[in-house]
Amino acid sequence: MSGVKRIDPRRPYCLSPSGLRRIVLGESGGAGFQFGAMARPHKKVKPRRTHEPAKHWHMAIAHSNRGRLDDHAREAVAASAILATPEIGVIAVILGDLHEDIAALGADRIVVIPELDAARFQPQREEAVIQALLDEYQPAQVLMPDNMLGDGDLGRRLIAKHERAAAATHVVELDRQHVSVRWNSGTIFAKSILPRFVLLTPGTVDIELPFVGAGEQTAPPQISSVTEVCRDLGLEPTEMSDIALEEADFIVSAGNGVRNVETIDTLARTLGAAVGASRVAVDEGKLPRDKQIGASGKTVSATTYFAIGISGAVQHLQGIKSCRHVIAINRDAGAPIVKRADLTVIGDAEELMQALITRVEQARNQGEAGEVER
Ligand SMILES: Cc1cc2nc3c(=O)[nH]c(=O)nc-3n(C[C@H](O)[C@H](O)[C@H](O)COP(=O)(O)OP(=O)(O)OC[C@H]3O[C@@H](n4cnc5c(N)ncnc54)[C@H](O)[C@@H]3O)c2cc1C
Repeated sequence: MSGVKRIDPRRPYCLSPSGLRRIVLGESGGAGFQFGAMARPHKKVKPRRTHEPAKHWHMAIAHSNRGRLDDHAREAVAASAILATPEIGVIAVILGDLHEDIAALGADRIVVIPELDAARFQPQREEAVIQALLDEYQPAQVLMPDNMLGDGDLGRRLIAKHERAAAATHVVELDRQHVSVRWNSGTIFAKSILPRFVLLTPGTVDIELPFVGAGEQTAPPQISSVTEVCRDLGLEPTEMSDIALEEADFIVSAGNGVRNVETIDTLARTLGAAVGASRVAVDEGKLPRDKQIGASGKTVSATTYFAIGISGAVQHLQGIKSCRHVIAINRDAGAPIVKRADLTVIGDAEELMQALITRVEQARNQGEAGEVER
C-alpha cells in the first residue's frame, strides 16, 4: 500500500458549465452543477444555465419552418442565453409551429404562436403580438436572425418602431459589451456598443451549448383583432432555377467529374435545389457562365452546398466559404473538397446521383417525404 488516496472513477460526476466531466468526492456538488449516474456514462447530462428566478429577460424572436428552427434561428436563441447573466431569463418567441424542444438552446421560457407562421404575411398582427410581449417582459436584449424569411423584415420594423439608434443589423460578432459588423466591403470589422436590438448574420454563434434552459412553455398574449394594412396574396411556388445562386439555400453544384448534366438537373429538381458549377464545368460548356461559383464567379452562402465531381480548388472554395454544410461526391478521397466537406461519399458521381434520385423518389412514394425533405 503506497498510502496515496485514489479516486474511484465510477463515483458520481458532475458537468462543469464548460461541458467537462468532473469526478466529485462528495455526493453532491456546488451550485450550477448537475449530477449524472455513472450507470449511463455515455448520456451527457447538461446542467441548467441558471437556477435563479429571472429578474430581467433576453428575448429571441424567430419564425419556425415546418415546426422546426433552422440553425440561424437557433443561433438567436443560443446568443440570448450566452449573453445572459444568472439573474437574466431567456424567452424564445417562436412564430409558427414548434415540434421540438429548444431548452437545449438555453430557452427558459418558450412562447409559440402557430398562427404567425412565415407562410402568411401579417406584419401588423406580428408587431402587435411582439409589442405585447416586449411590454410584458421588457427584455434588455432582443435577438433575431437577420434573414430574408421574415425575421429580417420583422426585426427592421421593430427597430424602426422602437429605437432606431439602439440597433445593429448584419452582426457577425458579439459579446456582452459589443457587436461587430463587416464594413468597407467586408475588409474591416466595425465595432460598437451592444444595442438592444441585434440582428445576427448566420454562423455568428455556436449553438452547441454546455448548458440547457428551463424550457417552460407559456401561453401567447391575447390580442384583440388587428387590421392589416397589407393584403396577403399568398405564396407562389418558384422554380429553383429562377432563384439567384446568391439567394439559394440549397445548391447542387457540378464539377469536371460530372459527365451528364441532365442527371445533375434531375437531382437538383428532385431535391429542390439550385444548380451551380465549377469553372472547369463552365469552361467545358456543361453549364452557363452565370452558374460559376468561386473567386471569378459567384459567392454563395447556402445552408447546404452539394459539390459533385468538384476537386475543391482554392478558387472554388473561396466562393463557398459562407456555406454552412458542404456535402461532396468524389471518387478521390484525397481531393481538397474532402477536407472542407462535412460529409463526403467516395464513388462515381453518375452512379451516386442516380442512386440518390431513385432513393428520394422511392421514399416520397412510400410517404417518407418528411424524412428526406430538408
Ligand atoms: C484566377 C483564377 C480564378 C479561378 N476562378 C475559379 C472560380 O471562380 N471557380 C472555380 O470553380 N474555379 C476557378 N478557378 C479554377 C480552379 O483553379 C480549378 O481549376 C477548378 O475549380 C477545377 O474545377 P473542378 O474541380 O470541377 O475540376 P477538376 O480539377 O478537374 O476536378 C474534378 C474532380 O472531380 C473528381 N471526379 C472525376 N471524375 C469523377 C467521377 N466520375 N465521379 C466522382 N468524382 C469524379 C476528381 O477526383 C476531381 O476531384 C480559377 C483559377 C484561376 C487561376
